Amino acid sequence: MTSFREFAETCQAIEKISSTIETTNKVADLLKKVDVEELPLATHFIMSEVFPAWSGEQLGIGTSLLYVSLSKASGMAIQSIESLIRTTGDIGDTALLILKEKRKNQVTFSSFLEEQPELSITEVYHRFKTASEASGKGSQEVKVRNLQFLFTSSTPREAKYISRLALEELRIGVGEGVVRDAIAKAFSVPADVVEHALMVTNDLGIVAAAAKKGGVDALKTLGIEINRPIKMMLSQISPDIDADIRAMKEAAIEWKFDGARVQIHKSGNSVTIFSRKLENVTNSLPDLVEIVRKHVKAESAILDGEAVAVDENGRPKAFQEILKRFRRKYDVEEKMLGIPIQLNLFDIMYLNGRTLIDLSLVERRKELESCVESSVEDSKSICVDKQVITGDLEVVEKIYREALRAGHEGVMVKNPNSLYSPGKRGKNWLKKKPLMETLDLVVVGAEWGFGRRANLIGSYSVACYDPETSRFMQIGKVGTGLNDEQLKELTEMLSGLMEGGEAGGVFAIRPKVVLEIAFEEIQKSPNYNSGFALRFPRFIRIRDDKDPEEADTIQRIGRVYSQQMKRL
Ligand code: ATP
Repeated sequence: MTSFREFAETCQAIEKISSTIETTNKVADLLKKVDVEELPLATHFIMSEVFPAWSGEQLGIGTSLLYVSLSKASGMAIQSIESLIRTTGDIGDTALLILKEKRKNQVTFSSFLEEQPELSITEVYHRFKTASEASGKGSQEVKVRNLQFLFTSSTPREAKYISRLALEELRIGVGEGVVRDAIAKAFSVPADVVEHALMVTNDLGIVAAAAKKGGVDALKTLGIEINRPIKMMLSQISPDIDADIRAMKEAAIEWKFDGARVQIHKSGNSVTIFSRKLENVTNSLPDLVEIVRKHVKAESAILDGEAVAVDENGRPKAFQEILKRFRRKYDVEEKMLGIPIQLNLFDIMYLNGRTLIDLSLVERRKELESCVESSVEDSKSICVDKQVITGDLEVVEKIYREALRAGHEGVMVKNPNSLYSPGKRGKNWLKKKPLMETLDLVVVGAEWGFGRRANLIGSYSVACYDPETSRFMQIGKVGTGLNDEQLKELTEMLSGLMEGGEAGGVFAIRPKVVLEIAFEEIQKSPNYNSGFALRFPRFIRIRDDKDPEEADTIQRIGRVYSQQMKRL
């Protein structure tokens, strides 16, 4: 078994370097050292995750639980821990200080220190897993006991990374790209083979273990599996869609539905539905499960589509209606089931044991059509999105107008020869829709409201993402556009994410929640660390189908800013 010390030392070393190549080398060295059985764990740990994102397992350790565990392990009062965090600004540095202090006292007051066995990577994982699985009465105690064990068994440096890992933020800037390259380097396999293995498994832990065990050959045997969701292929907005269509010669045009993206896994009679964020949302969509059972004629399949809420006449209703269902994961209210849902399928990635992502769009579509059966009476509940292949720009315009008239968002323009590229946003899927710029931004701070809204969070500091530094950069504050129900919902969502304490009425919030924000203009501003500010920002909706790292980037803000300057 590999000691957690190796892992903590790698984190420590990476924290001191800024070059991506050096970081990759350090990660590669770690992957080489770790036993193959523990490699999946270490691979996820180094990317700040305890469980693979696709698994849906939630660690669910909040800051207060962590403070209690640290307090019990060290004997320091929770208030003192909180005040230390306000000074250091980081849970990891705080844990390090607290445990160093404890050690010092032990050295002073006891003549010898008990020799402790070293913590292994597996042990850390098991403690986290036991904590995450505890539920019901007495679960807090179980969680605290397991975390406390980790803190009492670790060195101060290990505690630094255990506490950050508990919040799934190592702050060392290692993401999927670095780990993918590190696997290639560590086990001398080509990066494109690693990339393909990642696309089909969606799990770098599995990929790393296969590369270590059997190199390229083992990687090539990896494939898509039912109930292990793959990332969704994404689309791009094109600055000149006509030119792109001309370049493709012919493009596949489909209506773009405004609903919620769903990835459907069917195996026999069992149906599982994953959201855009790959969360298992099966429980909120029992009617969709029935539709799939009834109309998808395949022993096993993975399908891609959009679930749309429709009114009595079959016209699409607001996207909000579907998302509301996702949010109430475990308890779909009757009245929500009353909103009829329509499933529009537009892709297929797996059929009866065969992985289809390396087929062209045209070939995949044939497979899709062959396994979806919709009779006339049911055409309202399921359909394969109509597709027209054309190079004629006037035809494209006509379909686009029709789509808008029918109440949809616009059209998708796809390359008929393109493969399904999980997680990729590129020129093979383009969107054409009326322009209304909004930004998806992450809540990083909050202020309580006043008067009637004194017990609700009334104002939200929002930030864009900088993928180069993995930091969230503030760009403004939003307090308008929200009704009471939305304020209540957001207050509930954010209460568990408060970090540190209050400074000048503002609470720091762990970056987890994404909001879609409309605005009048982007200005340069020294008031926020992004260097930009939004004029008249207004809340549109909660984007809980997006992860914080998928928020708009500072680079995009820069581009929108310059486009705006050109228009003036
Ligand atoms: P992003 O910010 O990633 O672009 P978005 O959720 O705003 O996210 P768009 O990029 O505007 O989405 O459009 C892509 C989305 O459009 C898909 O994720 C899917 O949910 C939806 N969609 C509707 N119809 C189709 C279709 N025929 N083909 C592909 N996607 C479709």
